[in-house]
Amino acid sequence: MNKAPNEQEKLRIEAEAQLVRRRINLVQPQPGEDLLHELMHELKVHQIELEMQNEELRKSHIALEESRDRFLDLYEFAPICYLTITRQASICEINLTGCTLLGVERKQLVNKRFSNFVAPQDRDRWHRRFMNIMEQADFDKQSIELSMLHADGSPFYAHLDCLRREVVNAQPSLRIAMFDINELKIAEAKLRIAATVFESQEGVVVADASGLIVSVNAAFTNITGYVQNEVLGKNPNMLSSGRHDADFYAAMWRSISSLGFWEGEIWNKRKSGEVYPEHLVITAVKDQNGSVSHYVGTLTDITLSRNAADEIQHLAFYDPLTHIPNRRLLIDRLKLALASSLRSGKEGAILFLDLDNFKTLNDTLGHDHGDMLLQQVASRIESCVPEGNTVARMGGDEFVVMLENLSEQSFEAANQAEAVAKKILFSLNQPYKLDTHEYRITASIGATLFNKDHAQIAQILKQADIAMYQSKKSGYNALRFFDPEMQANLSARVDLEKDLIAAIENHEFELYYQIQVDHNRKPVGAEALIRWHHPKRMLVSPLEFIPFAEETGLIVAIGKWVLETACAQLGVWQHSELTKELTLSVNVSAKQFREANFVDQVHAAVKLHNINPMLLKLEPTESVLLENLEDTIATMSKLKAIGVRFALDDFGTGFSSLQYLKKLPLNQLKIDQSFVKELVSDNNDQAIVRTIIAMAQSLNLEVIAEGVETEQQQRILQQNGCNHYQGYLFGKPVPIDVFEMSLEKQGAL
Ligand code: C2E
Ligand code: MG
Ligand code: MG
Repeated sequence: MNKAPNEQEKLRIEAEAQLVRRRINLVQPQPGEDLLHELMHELKVHQIELEMQNEELRKSHIALEESRDRFLDLYEFAPICYLTITRQASICEINLTGCTLLGVERKQLVNKRFSNFVAPQDRDRWHRRFMNIMEQADFDKQSIELSMLHADGSPFYAHLDCLRREVVNAQPSLRIAMFDINELKIAEAKLRIAATVFESQEGVVVADASGLIVSVNAAFTNITGYVQNEVLGKNPNMLSSGRHDADFYAAMWRSISSLGFWEGEIWNKRKSGEVYPEHLVITAVKDQNGSVSHYVGTLTDITLSRNAADEIQHLAFYDPLTHIPNRRLLIDRLKLALASSLRSGKEGAILFLDLDNFKTLNDTLGHDHGDMLLQQVASRIESCVPEGNTVARMGGDEFVVMLENLSEQSFEAANQAEAVAKKILFSLNQPYKLDTHEYRITASIGATLFNKDHAQIAQILKQADIAMYQSKKSGYNALRFFDPEMQANLSARVDLEKDLIAAIENHEFELYYQIQVDHNRKPVGAEALIRWHHPKRMLVSPLEFIPFAEETGLIVAIGKWVLETACAQLGVWQHSELTKELTLSVNVSAKQFREANFVDQVHAAVKLHNINPMLLKLEPTESVLLENLEDTIATMSKLKAIGVRFALDDFGTGFSSLQYLKKLPLNQLKIDQSFVKELVSDNNDQAIVRTIIAMAQSLNLEVIAEGVETEQQQRILQQNGCNHYQGYLFGKPVPIDVFEMSLEKQGAL
């Protein structure tokens, strides 16, 4: 370093030189020593100058070191990953940020292939780019975005700036500045999603904090008819339909400011002026400081779903033919009417109306004319009923009128209801025009009052229904009011039905057995007769509940139980000498006989208890057989094929004719007890019994008499050729153990 010292330095050097001189001068100069002094002085000056230059050198060395450290710090800790890769694509140099980014220590990174850190899907692309940079002529910087992998395999996006570095006499290398753009990418994706959402099916309108529109999407235009330019800077209340009052909007804004959003259905107006329903959600968007920066409204046009909902509502609550309320709506309204009657104390009335012989019209003129008539009937009834009441169609030719707010006095209320009913009957009696046909029809009406004392809707309708049947019975075109006697009857039936259902579940039934004997009084079989051990009443006779069970259909379940139990008993009997040849007669009711799987039921019971089917005798009554002769013959034949036998119960009381008796696969006729009863004294009955027996013989059927109570009766029967008997004379129906005991007694005799 031969730099000349600056002015200040010069002064300092001069001062030091003078000091040296003065020091030297302190020593008295000796003769001849002057030159030496001079030289010494020179030497000193040089030495000082040399020291000063050394100091200079040391300082610049330190400065250099510091600058290198600064550069290294910069290089290592810069927020960007710097790395250099060789022509062979392996890493030869990388800064600390790079190591941290890749998640590997530097010593493990050096000589590693860079492409190890490129995600597989981007490796090809990277490789092509790398070759391209290394081979192309110009040295311009190139950028690429790559999916990369951290050392632990987790992915990240990186932006790479690449620059080829030429080195004289050596292979070129590639300098890379790489930074993590993961967050940027995620933000980009979010933006893309937001943009897609913005252009979704839902209309979107964005307003600024002052409520003025700043943006709308295409769906908004589709729904409202306004394009973006027409609404920008405007207040969304330009869409208001005028159907909502100020309170509605005040509540909306209260919700937005307290909860941050509002959601609901609102009527708005399109550009065309059409008012339409929309589902709207308004959300307040807040900035970092928590103050509202924007409002976003998303809206869906619900015109279609509203229409559909209206349609569904109509279908659900209105009769499609007459467009008057249906049963469901009537019941809804009846509920409300009951509640209101409870409050007001006013009576209401139900008129249950059924057209007389409507079926004939359908059968003669066809269903189209039937429908026409029903429509006219509906509108005639409506015209007779004061506004505010309900006329409903219950189905078929049944209509119900519900009258409300009648008098508080039952008597007066009944008069009011009667007046309306009579008006209806009169109106319906007038001729109808059905296309070219003129038609007349009448109706029967049953009426009942309802008030706070009636809670049960079903009961009210039932009462009116029962009254309607009464009026039908009385010969059509009539009005009947429900009376308490009917009520008592009704509730007894309701109780009986409940009890019967419970009886099946609680095993309250038992089979009694009544012996059947031949002319020698030898037991030949038995009849199974059901008994009901009612929990509150004594033993209930089948005459009390069987007809009711038939009406309600409960007989099916009961009959199944009887069949099962009887077959089980036959099964047991097969194991004892005393009983193994006894037949067992089981009564079957019409409903049971008509069950689609009746044959299977019998077959299954026979199989299950492994019984001889010849010993099972089914006892239908005449009425059963008459109902549908063809089906009856088919069912009976199938059962006969299994081996089961048939006795025709209560014979003589029905309309039996030889004709059909011939067709049926019967085995036995059972003379009804009513002919046996007076047999001794009544010649007429004797003649009937004789005829029955002769008929049975001509048809090759066995014959048995039931209700035989006296020796005389038996004798007459026997004289006429009847050899089998059942009656108190031989034994009453008794429980199985009593029955078996008496058999044993007889056997021992
Ligand atoms: P049914 O099949 O004609 O049975 C004969 C009825 O006459 C029985 O009445 C029996 O107790 C009665 N009886 C028998 N011998 C005499 C007698 O010498 N004098 C008098 N006065 N009566 C006699 P019960 O047991 O009250 O049954 C009545 C009816 O109930 C039966 O008439 C039958 O139609 C029906 N029934 C009974 N059990 C069943 C059953 O399990 N299923 C079905 N579907 N009906 C049954
Ligand atoms: Mg019987
Ligand atoms: Mg009978």
